[in-house]
Amino acid sequence: MAIVEYLQTVGGAPRKIALTNPASLEPLCEFECQSKKQVDAVVATARKAQKQWGATPLKERIQMMLKLRDLILEKQDEIVASIMRETGKPAQDALMMEVFSACSFISYWCKQAPKTLKDEKMRAPGIMGFEKKVHLIYKPLGVVAVIAPWNGPFLLVANPCVQAMLAGNAVVAKGSEVTPQSSKLFAALCLEVGIPEGVCNVVIGDGLTGSALTTADINKVSFTGSVATGKKVAAACAEKLIPCSLELGGKDAFIVCADADLDKAAHGAVWGGFVNTGHVCCAVERVYVEAPVYDAFVGKVTVLAKSIRQGQQHGINEDLGAVFWDRQLALMEKQVEDAKSRGAKALSGGERNTDLKGLYYPATIIVDVPEDADLMTKETFGPILPIIKVKDVEEAIAKANKSSYGLHGSVWTNDEAKGLEIAKRIETGCMAVNDIGIMYGVPNAPYGGIKESGVGSVNGRTALRDYSQAMPIVVGPYRGIEGGYPYSQEKYDQMKKLMNFLWKNPVGKFLFGP
Ligand code: NAD
Repeated sequence: MAIVEYLQTVGGAPRKIALTNPASLEPLCEFECQSKKQVDAVVATARKAQKQWGATPLKERIQMMLKLRDLILEKQDEIVASIMRETGKPAQDALMMEVFSACSFISYWCKQAPKTLKDEKMRAPGIMGFEKKVHLIYKPLGVVAVIAPWNGPFLLVANPCVQAMLAGNAVVAKGSEVTPQSSKLFAALCLEVGIPEGVCNVVIGDGLTGSALTTADINKVSFTGSVATGKKVAAACAEKLIPCSLELGGKDAFIVCADADLDKAAHGAVWGGFVNTGHVCCAVERVYVEAPVYDAFVGKVTVLAKSIRQGQQHGINEDLGAVFWDRQLALMEKQVEDAKSRGAKALSGGERNTDLKGLYYPATIIVDVPEDADLMTKETFGPILPIIKVKDVEEAIAKANKSSYGLHGSVWTNDEAKGLEIAKRIETGCMAVNDIGIMYGVPNAPYGGIKESGVGSVNGRTALRDYSQAMPIVVGPYRGIEGGYPYSQEKYDQMKKLMNFLWKNPVGKFLFGP
């Protein structure tokens, strides 16, 4: 049983993939992975189209993106249905994580773009400022490759593509081979609102197609995916000396202090661990609970986990959907079986839900997991919540920091100031106090990982700018004749005098800075 099945892989022949709906196990589609030659041709089309798009006034580009948001809103049910067919996720997960977030991001970027991308004019600092002006312009990079994973197949294509296009770039997006239809749908919507042909392109295929894209004639890669692939993408970009942003995996810690509101914390752990079938980069993957409230907390999360409704027979009330990919299901099963064989106990779930026809794994609460088990150290990316008892907050912080990942995390306490102090000590890209992994959904928060979780950030003020080249143009009279060739003792002494005036003389310091 497989939702991704290679139909043909042999030596050099086009690679064909057949997809199955993971919830119903009905056939979904078959497609051929695009070759290097085809990818290069798409990139060439994008490069051609970018010339005019980059020269289109920002105001018009913003209008196009707002039209795109309106069309996404208008077609939300169609988009949700398409995402559900491809992923098996519940309607609410699709609506909230993909449609709502895409609209929220487009609105934010459209509001920010005039401020973020407008030309700036400033004086050079210090004595140079008498004569030299600096014009800072934000030029498009050219063609941006967007490579996306399967867990947010619409949003994780839409968000970087919108930013790149607003900044005047053409994009070539490659959605995951597990979910190619969402990326195609996004490109079709762009065309429908009148974004010129060639500006938003999609290539379809597997890792080899992705790899072909990273070596094509592109100017940046925005990559979201696993650590292992992120390293390959970084290496390809280093070879070409082009920038890349890498949004990679995580193993987020969730710290419950003894003074936390346990009902809210339990709900946060369950929703944060199981939303989108746990296929969320900033899902709760490790829970550390202070000893005095451990039993009460475990009791509450277990009750909540057991109340979760799984499967499409629940209609709009479905809480937990299918596992999107058979490969991920196998990985989850392996991690849980390994932990159980080493003494861990599942208080809910713990093995595949065979009552349902599709790829389903139930909401799993698991305790007594050895700390060196893969379930505690490697990304699980599934609806599995390991809970560990700790003596105090210090132990929780030390354990949270003992990870090769650093994407997100959260701390739960009734004392916000204390929560903030604990959050500051966690070695991770972002943190939340009394909330779950919402940073990706806060557009002005620079969301990104440290350690193996990535490089750069997708959101925040700097992200949009990172899709452009900040090009300074210095304007002012030439002073090379006075200070440059021919060198002489006199010019050397003048330079010394000037330095003494600027940084030793009180008047110089007053005029030009400390
Ligand atoms: P993946 O790395 O296997 O694949 C990601 C994309 O890269 C796919 O489109 C794939 O076809 C492509 N690809 C594979 N090999 C390639 C290569 N050599 N060169 C270029 N492209 C290549 O990851 P996945 O399994 O699709 O996604 C799950 C991972 O994504 C998880 O680790 C998850 O945490 C991470 N993720 C991170 C964020 C974030 O914002 N940090 C968001 C969502 C998902």
